[in-house]
Amino acid sequence: MTSSRIRYIAICSLLVLCSQSCKDNEELTPTELTFVQNFYPNATDLEIIVAYETGAEPYISYTGTSAWEVAEDNINELFEGRNIALTIPKELAQMTNLGRLEQNNYTRENIIDYSIELQKYSNKDGQKGITLLFLDGYYIKDGQANKNILGLNINNTSILVIFKPVVESAANSEAEKALVEQSTIVHEIGHAIGLVNNGVEATSAHHDEANGAHCTNTKCVMYWENGSGNAQFIAPFLTGGKISLFGDACITDVKSK
Ligand SMILES: [Zn+2]
Ligand SMILES: [Zn+2]
Repeated sequence: MTSSRIRYIAICSLLVLCSQSCKDNEELTPTELTFVQNFYPNATDLEIIVAYETGAEPYISYTGTSAWEVAEDNINELFEGRNIALTIPKELAQMTNLGRLEQNNYTRENIIDYSIELQKYSNKDGQKGITLLFLDGYYIKDGQANKNILGLNINNTSILVIFKPVVESAANSEAEKALVEQSTIVHEIGHAIGLVNNGVEATSAHHDEANGAHCTNTKCVMYWENGSGNAQFIAPFLTGGKISLFGDACITDVKSK
C-alpha cells in the first residue's frame, strides 16, 4: 500500500455541513440529533448494534485474535471509572444480516433509514445504543459515489457506517484489513461519543480544528488520517501485544467529562 493511496482514503466524513438544516434530518428525533448531550448525564449501558449487508461481513478474527476485542478494549479504556457496561458483538451470529440491499451505493438518507430500523433504544434513559452498518458499497456524496470514504458518523447522532469495499482496498493482508476496520470503528465511535470537542470538551490543546473533530496526536486513533488504513498507525499492532488506540489527551477528555 503506498502512502499516497493511504492519504487519499478519507477516514471520516462528519457531514457537519449538513447537520441541522437537511431535509432528511426531519426523520431523526431531537433526541437522536443530540446523542452526546444525552449520553454522559445518565449512561449505564452502551450496546453497539451491528448489521451487515451480505458480502460486507465484518472481520471476526485475524491471526487467531478476536477482531472485535480491539474495539471492546479501547472503548472500555475510554470509559474506565465511569460504570458504563459495554456490549459489543464478536461473532456474526450476534449481528443482523441485512441480506443484499437494493442499491449499490448509499445516500445519507438511505443510511438514516436503515439505522433507524436497527436502533433498539430511545437513547433518552440509561440504556444507549449506537448503530453500525457494514455496507457493500460507497457513500454517495454530492451525487457521486465516493470511493475514499471508509467510514462515517452522521454528526451528533449514534449512526455509524463502514463502507466495506474501501476497507478491502485500504490494505493488503487480511490482518491489516481487520485492523483498518477495527481502528475505523473505534475512530467513528470516538466521534459519536464526543471526541474531539464534538460534545466532549478538549481539556488540553489537542484539537485539530482545521480537520474538524480530530486530534493533533499522530499516534492517536482520533488523528484525522488514522483508522483510515494508515499503515504506519496500525503496523505496530500487527505483531501482537496490547492495542491502545487512543492517546492520553483523548482519554483525559472523556475522563474529565
Ligand atoms: Zn474522523
Ligand atoms: Zn487523541
